[in-house]
Amino acid sequence: MSLAIESKLIHGGIDGDETTGAVCVPVYQTSTYKQDGLGKDRGWEYSRTGNPTRAALEKLIADLEEGQYGMAFASGLAAITTVLSLFKQGDRLVVSDNIYGGTFRILDNVFNNFGIEYTIVDTSDLRQVEEAITDDVKAVYIETPANPLLTVTDIRAVADIAKTKDKLVIVDNTFLTPYLQRPLTLGADIVIHSGTKYLGGHSDTISGFVVVNDKALADRLYYLQNAIGGILSPWDSFLVIRGIKTLGVRMDRHVENAGKIAQWLEDSGYVEKVYYPGLKSDPGYEVQKKQADGAGAMISFVLDKKYDYRKFFENIKLVTLAESLGGVESLACHPASMTHAAIPKEIREKVGIVDELIRLSVGIENVGDLIADLKQAIEASAV
Ligand SMILES: *Cc1c(COP(=O)(O)O)cnc(C)c1O
Repeated sequence: MSLAIESKLIHGGIDGDETTGAVCVPVYQTSTYKQDGLGKDRGWEYSRTGNPTRAALEKLIADLEEGQYGMAFASGLAAITTVLSLFKQGDRLVVSDNIYGGTFRILDNVFNNFGIEYTIVDTSDLRQVEEAITDDVKAVYIETPANPLLTVTDIRAVADIAKTKDKLVIVDNTFLTPYLQRPLTLGADIVIHSGTKYLGGHSDTISGFVVVNDKALADRLYYLQNAIGGILSPWDSFLVIRGIKTLGVRMDRHVENAGKIAQWLEDSGYVEKVYYPGLKSDPGYEVQKKQADGAGAMISFVLDKKYDYRKFFENIKLVTLAESLGGVESLACHPASMTHAAIPKEIREKVGIVDELIRLSVGIENVGDLIADLKQAIEASAV
């Protein structure tokens, strides 16, 4: 029976426990498994290679992304590390210019040491993507909406360009989750997630995912998952399955609150600029509407110079100053000194990550309370 995503969130993957009838997949807290004779195991050998709790989650994330093969990792960066390990010395990646800071860091300071090169372009500009795909390029790596300026890249258009040149398309889908956007259905080859964010949803677990459709690519990635070993633990797998059950209702509220806050900010006179692809004024609005079922709940804005951005962070009360995003609670962060500090200042300012930029992860609290808190925090920050 084919299910809509709201039902798949709850019944997708492995629905409960076959052996006992337990409605929830149990935590199989074991490192190894009894074998009945030499070469006669029951499908499980060692928990780095495979674990039933993790396998249930891996099947679930694959179902949600409309992919065939899912893999769960100890963090988003463990997932990214595993994907980047597909490449070798002399290979080059084309990368979005405002990606997650940690992704930039690992490309620049780790994989670069192994001779894997990267070219940074604005992937929302398809001409730049096309021009950057030289012979040594093996993949295009995008995030959409990207971090922290919510730049929207047309996944289908990038995939069309990459396909004619036989390059892989990798999409970090953390900001929208499969509830709002399914990149494999738009021509991407590999989907990556930090499950730490909306999938887990409660700011209590670090996790990461990879989903693909191609069998050969999946086999290579399973090999790397086992070889590198950055797997998700049984307990954390259980927590993420638990989180995913409420993803639909959470995302509905996240998106509704974010839409109202973005509009309020735009009309408020407190800000120079609001970045949110759900606003008609946003350059990404049309593409976002075409490729996703909502604009997500991340908003960035540039505070007007009449206000001191440092004081804003001291004055917020309901909204918490913290790294991360995607939890039920609203968070504010300062990209220039926090999430994107790893990016050199010249590059940062060039792409628009100025000191006055504030990023909000809009939670699911009452939206009136959130707006009241932002308003009092901004007004109390007047210089
Ligand atoms: C957080 C994040 C990551 C890294 O994930 P971790 O779980 O923190 O390792 C990667 N990409 C995006 C878009 C993120 O927000």
